[in-house]
Amino acid sequence: MLIDSHCHLIHRKYEKTTDQLINEAIAEGVEKFITIGTSITENKRAIELAKKYDSVFAAIGIYPHEENNVRGKDPNKLEKLLEEQLTKSSKIVAIGECGIDISDDWEGGRNPEEQIELFEMQIKLAKKHDLPLIIHNRNGDEPILELLEKHKGSGLRGVLHCFATTWETAQKFLDLGFYISFSGMITYPSRKGLLETVDKVPNDRFIIETDAPYLPPQGHRGEVNEPKYVKIVAEKACEVKNLPFEEISRMTYENTCRIFTKLCLKP
Ligand SMILES: [Zn+2]
Repeated sequence: MLIDSHCHLIHRKYEKTTDQLINEAIAEGVEKFITIGTSITENKRAIELAKKYDSVFAAIGIYPHEENNVRGKDPNKLEKLLEEQLTKSSKIVAIGECGIDISDDWEGGRNPEEQIELFEMQIKLAKKHDLPLIIHNRNGDEPILELLEKHKGSGLRGVLHCFATTWETAQKFLDLGFYISFSGMITYPSRKGLLETVDKVPNDRFIIETDAPYLPPQGHRGEVNEPKYVKIVAEKACEVKNLPFEEISRMTYENTCRIFTKLCLKP
């Protein structure tokens, strides 16, 4: 029993069909998938996939640099479009991915102030619709913590996806009630520093993901990542936390269901 709590099943990088990706993952014990939208167009496709496959659920949101067009300049317009999308499916389990991405690789991306405005719109939307947030964080510890602090005690909840910073920072997110999600990055020799956080995050706040097609685990670097490799992330967690595979898979499954409540509702 495994859940890939964060993958991009609709990514153009895939040569395999979605059927293949899903069936191969199911054969490895993956029972549920949260496929992530990053723009209005991708959200729409994520919602369609969730309709088509019982095991697939959707998260919808605007990535910090996506939709940076005429319509995307106005967070109110994007908010209306997201709200409209929320009415399209009962299998939308979260708002995201959204957050902060401060890097030079985005041409024509948003500046930090614009990103904060866009992120805060999605925080408010998550609160209004009582949905968890899926937060993307690249060099954004400070602004993200500041925003979450501002909404502390409001019932806001969520996940720091693909966690990649320090235990000190993780503790601050944990204090705010957030869950921490780890990807194949924890298998990279160059990211050994992350293992302290893997070890120390309490067992009831620990979840796993692939972020496929990005970040393939060690042994598959240079390939296109797939949801089936969430098993490799689980195996690494076993090694670091010194727990049997059954325990890691049971606890990450239960934690993922607890934070993404709609994921495990019985029809
Ligand atoms: Zn992602």
